[in-house]
Amino acid sequence: MSEKYDVLIVGGGIVGMSCAYYLQKAGSRVLIVDRGRYSEAASTGNAGMIVPSHIVPLSAPGVISKGIKWLMNPESPLYIKPSANPKFMKWLWLFQKHCTADHVAYSIPILRDLSLMSLDLFGDICAQPGFENVGLAHDGLLMLHRSEYARKDNLELADLAEEAGLDIKRLDRDETFDLEPALKTEITGSVYFKQDASIHPDRFLRALEAHLIANGAGVIDAAVKGFETSGGKVVGVNTTAGKFMADQLVLASGSWTPELAAKLGQSIAVQPAKGYSITVPVSKPSFRIPCILADEKVTITPMPGCIRFGGTLALQGFDISIDERRASPIRRQAEAYTEGAENVPTWAGFRPASPDGLPFIGVVPDHQNVFIATGHGMMGVTLGPVTGKLIAELALGSEPSQNIDPFNVNRH
Ligand SMILES: Cc1cc2nc3c(=O)[nH]c(=O)nc-3n(C[C@H](O)[C@H](O)[C@H](O)COP(=O)(O)OP(=O)(O)OC[C@H]3O[C@@H](n4cnc5c(N)ncnc54)[C@H](O)[C@@H]3O)c2cc1C
Repeated sequence: MSEKYDVLIVGGGIVGMSCAYYLQKAGSRVLIVDRGRYSEAASTGNAGMIVPSHIVPLSAPGVISKGIKWLMNPESPLYIKPSANPKFMKWLWLFQKHCTADHVAYSIPILRDLSLMSLDLFGDICAQPGFENVGLAHDGLLMLHRSEYARKDNLELADLAEEAGLDIKRLDRDETFDLEPALKTEITGSVYFKQDASIHPDRFLRALEAHLIANGAGVIDAAVKGFETSGGKVVGVNTTAGKFMADQLVLASGSWTPELAAKLGQSIAVQPAKGYSITVPVSKPSFRIPCILADEKVTITPMPGCIRFGGTLALQGFDISIDERRASPIRRQAEAYTEGAENVPTWAGFRPASPDGLPFIGVVPDHQNVFIATGHGMMGVTLGPVTGKLIAELALGSEPSQNIDPFNVNRH
């Protein structure tokens, strides 16, 4: 087979689909190739939070020491498996290099601007027919604390968020319960991030796909195996469903982007960071406001037809096995808030994590018709639409609506 498209996108997760959406909107004929979106990919099964509140990147002071301290705790929310794999060692070295107050200060305005823009774009996309049931809700986010330790962390984040111009409120216990009477967790207070939102990510992805197909996009279930290049450009993409031609190529393949980029001689520092979730069907969520339990690092998101409980970040390569002990803090919350959670299996997926907590969005220097969009880590839902918009602007040669220098694919 040899059909010609304007842009071929490898990866049908939220990032790839968002790239396809903005490219199609600008008039490009797009083809999305994905080998199985609803399995280990992160874009379904995640907590669905759209979080301008997450202005502090994962690579922040104290994270490595917490990881070491938690190494022996089978229920800890962060797990770094020791490994001699050179790519993992390099990633970890880069990660610890960025765990500084300076890097946090550098990242805050970047993440704030990206996520606020993305929040607006979610609104635009979901205002269209076909997106009525994706559950976009602008109810804010409650960051709950119980221990003194978590309270201190939350209040520090509140100060940073306020300095960055975000709309927040510090609440004591009673004020928190007044705002969300369905809470059952024992807490001492919370920080309320008013601008945060949430969505049913699985439904959003399906709605995006239906919209793209209805407007002429191709979507193919196949694995990309390699590329044909000529004169510093990719001219053909070989897949298990045959060969496809396109003028431009976008690698939005989540945690698997490094193996595809390597075929073009491009190295990209992304590691899979496994997370878990438990989705309990409910006729009507008792909850209105999405929450993060800062002590347990567990998320609770009400979505249409279900409540999803999520958490855990495990850096242990592509090991998709589920460690039920590590998932148990998530399961305890699911059982406390819902009926029948014990019958629901734990889901696992890989977040594509960059070592500095910022995504990779840009052109591959040696192949000017190839773009990379990955490395969104804990924020891929939040940053999906803005990434799609930036990639479309780059591919079409227009001025990007945000400064993309911090996302350079060769920055490490
Ligand atoms: C438990 C959990 C909770 C989360 N909660 C949130 C949240 O609340 N808010 C938020 O903003 N983010 C959240 N995230 C992060 C977010 O889910 C990810 O950052 C995001 O989904 C990454 O999207 P992606 O499209 O880059 O990658 P993916 O969703 O992994 O998609 C990549 C796709 O590429 C395809 N692919 C890879 N290689 C090939 C190949 N060779 N050929 C064909 N196809 C290929 C895969 O099949 C896959 O479908 C969470 C993640 C987890 C795990």
